[in-house]
Amino acid sequence: MFIDRLYQQKPCVFSIEIFPPKQTANLEKLYHTLSEMSKLNPDFISVTYGAGGKNLGASTCEIASHIQNDLHINALAHLTCVGATPQSICASLDELHKAGVHNILALRGDANPDLPFSKEYPHASDLAAAITARGGFHIAGACYPEGHVESQTLSEDIENLKKKVEAGVSQLITQLFFDNIHYYRFLNLARKKGIRIPVSAGVMPIVSRSQIERTVALSSASLPPQFTKMISRWQDDEQGLYEAGIEYAINQLRDLINSGADGVHLYAMNRSAVASRVYEGIQDLL
Ligand code: FAD
Repeated sequence: MFIDRLYQQKPCVFSIEIFPPKQTANLEKLYHTLSEMSKLNPDFISVTYGAGGKNLGASTCEIASHIQNDLHINALAHLTCVGATPQSICASLDELHKAGVHNILALRGDANPDLPFSKEYPHASDLAAAITARGGFHIAGACYPEGHVESQTLSEDIENLKKKVEAGVSQLITQLFFDNIHYYRFLNLARKKGIRIPVSAGVMPIVSRSQIERTVALSSASLPPQFTKMISRWQDDEQGLYEAGIEYAINQLRDLINSGADGVHLYAMNRSAVASRVYEGIQDLL
């Protein structure tokens, strides 16, 4: 099923993102995680892609195929075009289609000094256009409620986002954010500029110190006072932070769903227990 149809059928689409393990040996563990996540009835599960095809362990296609064909859950395979050629993209699309994975999140991938931007696909919109020309896939795209770091302004970023939609993207998933006001403001601006496709709001529960050090420190998401207060209160208490992080994400998601978000996308970082706890806190609204 092309997953954009889900947004016509449901008031709020619930999805989860996972990433391939670095070592193929850890694939069994991921499949157990996915089996646990499948109990939460996600409308789709997305699988990230190492930019430049650098999936050292199990491939995005292999895992997406397992989700689609063995778990019978809609799979959304991420695909980046940084460093790609028409031949490599053609091969990836053939592989995904043959595997029964017909939903793609078309991305450029982050700038990488070892991997020049592709001549043919300098932006995600160029990849989306190539997928549209080939046919046979639903195409999703990424968007940034606080603006992409390479854009001078949010308004400029949204102008570029329109090119993605014109190239065939029919659904969007946002970068994570910790303050819902950014999602509402972004949506308002995007709608005013004529972008009418569904936008799932991406939320990541912050439940560990390592996430604070890596994800929060590296993400360009702004940190609202209630979030920084939560972090400073619990950062030296592992269990306390876990509980507070889950509660924060549940509150964020409940507000988004109650405010009519098209969908919510959980960046669960391959933690099925976290996904389950968050799901328990929102399932009455889904
Ligand atoms: P683009 O849409 O190409 O945008 C990049 C910049 O170029 C923006 O500033 C934009 O405004 C500008 N721009 C866009 N189109 C044009 C145009 N036609 N002309 C001029 N300027 C333009 N990375 C991975 O490596 N693997 C993943 O699996 C992955 N999954 C992601 C999932 C989500 C939901 C999100 C939000 C991000 C994900 N990323 C992933 C990160 C992403 O690859 C980076 O944020 C990257 O820097 C931008 O990718 P993009 O597809 O948004 O690029």
